[in-house]
Amino acid sequence: MTDATNNTNICGLCGSSLTEEHSHEEENLGIQVKYKIIKIRGILADSVAVDDPNDKHPLPARVLAANLGIDATSLLGIQYTCLVSRDPYGTTRSNYHLVED
Ligand SMILES: [Zn+2]
Repeated sequence: MTDATNNTNICGLCGSSLTEEHSHEEENLGIQVKYKIIKIRGILADSVAVDDPNDKHPLPARVLAANLGIDATSLLGIQYTCLVSRDPYGTTRSNYHLVED
C-alpha cells in the first residue's frame, strides 16, 4: 500500500494544496467587467466600465453588436459584461454578454 491518493489534493499547476478558494481562474481568464455603451461615434461604440470611468473600451459597433447578438442600432445605453484579461501582450476582452435590465 502507498500514500499515492494523498497527492490528489495537490494543484497540478502550482503545487499548492487544493483548498476551496484555490483557483487559477482569475489569472488565466481575467476578470468580469461590466460596461455601459455611452456613445456611438461613427462606426465606433464607446463603452465605459460601470465601476471605473477610466476604463474605456471603444469597439466597432458592428463587432460589438455581433458579440452581443443584438442589432447595431440598439447599442446605445445598453450594458454588457465581458471577460477582461491583461497580460504582457495587452488587454484582451472576450465572452461578451448582454446585461438585461
Ligand atoms: Zn495552483
